Amino acid sequence: MKGMIQGFTTEIEASNDAEVTVSYSVRLAEQEYTLKGGEGLTFQYVGGANCKHCGVLITAAGRDYCFDCFRTLARCDLCVMSPNRCHHHKGTCREPDWGDSFCMQPHVVYLALAHVPKVGITRAGREWYRWSDQGAHKALRLMTVPTRRMAGVVEAHLSQWITDRTDWRKLVTGQRGDFSLTELAVDLMQRTPDLGQFRSDQISDAEVDGAVWEIDPRETNLSYPVQDFSPAEQLRVDSAQEVIADNLQGVIGGYLLLSRGVMSMQSLSRGDIQLELGDPVVLEERPQMSLF
Ligand SMILES: [Zn+2]
Repeated sequence: MKGMIQGFTTEIEASNDAEVTVSYSVRLAEQEYTLKGGEGLTFQYVGGANCKHCGVLITAAGRDYCFDCFRTLARCDLCVMSPNRCHHHKGTCREPDWGDSFCMQPHVVYLALAHVPKVGITRAGREWYRWSDQGAHKALRLMTVPTRRMAGVVEAHLSQWITDRTDWRKLVTGQRGDFSLTELAVDLMQRTPDLGQFRSDQISDAEVDGAVWEIDPRETNLSYPVQDFSPAEQLRVDSAQEVIADNLQGVIGGYLLLSRGVMSMQSLSRGDIQLELGDPVVLEERPQMSLF
C-alpha cells in the first residue's frame, strides 16, 4: 500500500498498571496499518503540508503550524515547553479558554527510565502514552497536582537532582539503564518535605493544597515492538529529490528504527511525506571504508 502519511497511532495494551505493551500503526489514506517490524518502507517527500490549526498550505518544510498560528496559539507559546513559566494568572495567556481546558487540569509528575531516570509531567490519565512517547521501559507516578503550572514548578525543582531530558541516541541504539525508580521516588520525597515552599504569586494555595505525593509509588514496565535497534543517525526526507527505502526493525519512543538510522514519527506526520509499505526492500551494500 501507498499513500500520504496522515499520522501514527500509539496503542496501549495493559491488563493492569504493572505491565504495558505498546504497539504502533501508521495511517495511510484513512486506513491503519500495524507496524510490527520486518516491513519494507519507502519514504518520499511530496510537499503540501497544511497548518495543523488553520489548514493553510505551509511552504517551508518541517513545520507543524503556519507563521500566524505559531505566533498566536497558546500551544506554540514558550510556556508549553516550560510550564513553570505559565503566565495564565497574569491574564496574558494567548488563549485563556484553551489554557483552562489544557493546562488548568490535573497533571501527574512522574519518573521514567530509558537510559537514565528522568522527571517529567503529563495530563492525568495520559501517563502510559507519555511514557511510551519517551521510550521508557520503566516509569512511576510521583505526584498528582491540580494544574500544569504546579507540575512544571515541581518538575523544575526536582530537576536539580535528576534530568528532565532524554537522549535519543541512547534510546535508539538500545542502551537501557537499570535503576530502582521506587528508591529514587522515596529519596526525592524526603528531599522535598514541604510543598508550601512552592506557594508564590504564580502558585495559589489551592494548587499547593491539591498536590499529593503518590503514597505507594509502583513501577510500570513497558515493552515495545523492537527486533533490532538502529545506528544513532536521524534520517530525513525534506526535499522532492530525496527517497529513503529501508526495512523497519522496530518502533520505540516516537522513532521508527530502520537498518540505517531512525526517523522521527513526528517529523513524518505533517502531511507532506508519502509512504509505500510492503515486503522487505533489498538494500544496496553500503560502500565499505577501507583502512588500507
Ligand atoms: Zn495556521
